[in-house]
Amino acid sequence: MGERHDVVIIGAGPAGLAAAIYTGRGRLRTLVLEKGLPGGQILITDWIENYPGFPNGIAPFDLMEGFRKQALRFGAEIASDEVREVVSDPDPARAGGWLVRGSKGEYPTRTVLVAAGSEYRRLGLADESRLVGRGVSYCATCDGAFFRERDIAVVGGGDTALMEAVFLTKFARKVHLIHRRDALRGAKILQERVFENPKIEVQWSSVVEAVLGKDNVEGVLLRGLKDGSMSELAVEGLFVSIGTVPVTGFLKGLVALNEWGQIIVDARMAASRPGIFAAGDVIAGAPRQVATAAGTGVTAAMAVNEFLSTYK
Ligand SMILES: Cc1cc2nc3c(=O)[nH]c(=O)nc-3n(C[C@H](O)[C@H](O)[C@H](O)COP(=O)(O)OP(=O)(O)OC[C@H]3O[C@@H](n4cnc5c(N)ncnc54)[C@H](O)[C@@H]3O)c2cc1C
Repeated sequence: MGERHDVVIIGAGPAGLAAAIYTGRGRLRTLVLEKGLPGGQILITDWIENYPGFPNGIAPFDLMEGFRKQALRFGAEIASDEVREVVSDPDPARAGGWLVRGSKGEYPTRTVLVAAGSEYRRLGLADESRLVGRGVSYCATCDGAFFRERDIAVVGGGDTALMEAVFLTKFARKVHLIHRRDALRGAKILQERVFENPKIEVQWSSVVEAVLGKDNVEGVLLRGLKDGSMSELAVEGLFVSIGTVPVTGFLKGLVALNEWGQIIVDARMAASRPGIFAAGDVIAGAPRQVATAAGTGVTAAMAVNEFLSTYK
């Protein structure tokens, strides 16, 4: 167990690294813990077009390398470890602080900034992961523009799926909305927009059994739930919109979460316990974009700085 940090940031995605730039530059003793590669989930795509400041887009790896190097330049440490638990520091000499337990070590700290992101819920099909970025996507805002004049499918029936289906008609020639029930779940007004849109066709009571295609998505195999029939649908894109799962398991009830398991924060990104902050996709109502993750990371870092200036 090393010397106590001012802040331990959990996750080196856009939120965590943007926060580390600010806490490092604020001369706070900063440790970022990352279980995988620094950069976060944006690294699974090969191009980002909507991060401000790059009119022609940028490779996510290059963008996130810039974040990482800038955090290091200001003195933040980035270590490889998977956080398993955060508890009140049991050492009386460090009362009021926190202890972050990872699989490789324990890290005492004055504050914790949770930036562990969220994971898109997947269908769990054999070829789904292999074809991510090659037609399979979990984010219409991010990838829709790559499907101009193509036939594509959206899986889901909730608000997000309906919004994404309508949004995708700006680009696609045809959008098949695949839904497991015979009625949509999303808000009535969104349902009306779906039904009014001539580019959208709903595939009722159907589930995707397999994603087809060798190097890119070429279609999906559908199973009709009413009669068990199998049919192929030729599409070049498959947008899976069945929800996200925030990564908060290691908090084990430490801070208040909303009904979807996202961390409830105030306008300064403070969670329900003093000294715990959160930013990025893990917070309630996050718009789930790199720019907003970075923005909330910066807000949280400034709040950490302010909190520590009054810390005993
Ligand atoms: C396919 C795809 C395409 C996208 N395209 C775009 C786009 O074009 N434009 C855009 O703005 N956004 C896009 N996004 C969304 C964007 O990637 C996210 O909004 C953003 O990465 C969220 O940043 P974050 O820092 O909150 O979380 P993340 O990027 O998820 O980073 C969290 C980090 O925490 C780490 N972590 C998790 N648990 C632990 C733990 N227990 N211990 C240690 N480390 C942990 C993870 O390994 C990860 O590196 C896309 C997302 C996907 C999946």
